[in-house]
Amino acid sequence: MDVILRDTQVTETQRYRHGNQTLTQTSKERPALLTDIKVDIRTEPLTERYSLTPGKELGRGKFGVVRRCVEKHTGTEFAAKFVRKRRRGQDCRREVIHEVSMLELTSSCSRVINLHEVYETPSEMVLLLEYASGGDLFEQCVAEHTGAFSQEEVKVLMRQILEGVGFLHSNNIVHLDLKPQNLLLTSTNPLGDIKIVDFGLSRVVRENQELREIMGTPEYVAPETLNYEPITTATDMWSIGVLTYVMLTGISPFLGEDKQETFLNISQVNVSYTEEELEALDPSAICFIQAVLLKDPRARLSAEECLRHEWLRGPEWQPHTRKETCIGEEDPPHTPDKDPGVEELIVMTAYTLGQCRHSDSEAFSQEQNPTATCFRFGEPFHNMQKVIY
Ligand code: ADP
Ligand code: MG
Repeated sequence: MDVILRDTQVTETQRYRHGNQTLTQTSKERPALLTDIKVDIRTEPLTERYSLTPGKELGRGKFGVVRRCVEKHTGTEFAAKFVRKRRRGQDCRREVIHEVSMLELTSSCSRVINLHEVYETPSEMVLLLEYASGGDLFEQCVAEHTGAFSQEEVKVLMRQILEGVGFLHSNNIVHLDLKPQNLLLTSTNPLGDIKIVDFGLSRVVRENQELREIMGTPEYVAPETLNYEPITTATDMWSIGVLTYVMLTGISPFLGEDKQETFLNISQVNVSYTEEELEALDPSAICFIQAVLLKDPRARLSAEECLRHEWLRGPEWQPHTRKETCIGEEDPPHTPDKDPGVEELIVMTAYTLGQCRHSDSEAFSQEQNPTATCFRFGEPFHNMQKVIY
């Protein structure tokens, strides 16, 4: 989809009660990208102090690649995210600085990836990030060779994701691109910890400043984003619902034949599923999903409320050797055996900032879910409509 830029004058006032938080957002201003960063940007060649590890990339986006590297004087591994400054004929250095700034704002949260250093060349910037050797959740829950997580594992991971998202929200930060590709694991066997990455779309939700931008990844984007309604912390909670569904079933709930159909499914909250898939799930997990996949952002549970939901309460799960891998086998360094592919550019629309973005909308093939049909999510589950938390 092409990038459409539009100016907007937002004059309305919207009050959003979400959890304990009341966001009052009124503004005639356009939301700005953050510009303040603490880190000194290095300009000498990266290879003076780092050696890039030969082999496959860790990931690839529309504007660059992520590669493994080793800091020569410490031997520590890092992930080097190379990002082009010029995108579609526009200078996007500000966007990269914004991402750096957001990573600095979140540096005290252990659920968010740590930023180590930043380099700059005439054409690109390089973010040296803590290396998460378990790879991203997309490979884990969708890629055929690994298989989905167990329901217990999803609970553990979801708790950690919500702790991270709760931290962001309590600091008035919205991520706006929560999806399996942007959630990494420190190891896969035993199951490690979650690290949230990719703050390119994240924003600070300021008081007295309304944020309306249409951007994100089609399958994870919230109805209010599609409708160009105000974005709040609840917008991330919609993505949490989609993510939970995907992690439990391996199926993308709103995916249609094309983007139009996907967007229609989202705005009508039509979830694609087979009865067998949902029958296999813990009813409280379905209840949880239903409590966040609500069209009205004000009705969705907050991250804190999610953590108190019946589905996520209960005894702490103990890490164990996972079934998919041979017992005793060391967790191998993360080397995707598939070409990570290029994420498809979505921007949907960045009304205010002209930001570019991309998606993985074609990543889930139809064959993976040949019998899925579209129902309104609530229909067969009237008796579970009550939100428990
Ligand atoms: P983009 O903005 O292009 O989406 P991301 O920051 O999401 O870039 O990184 C792209 C991919 O690279 C991720 O989906 C993940 O697979 C991999 N990746 C990113 N950061 C790391 C990291 N710190 N450790 C390991 N892999 C990473
Ligand atoms: Mg990403």
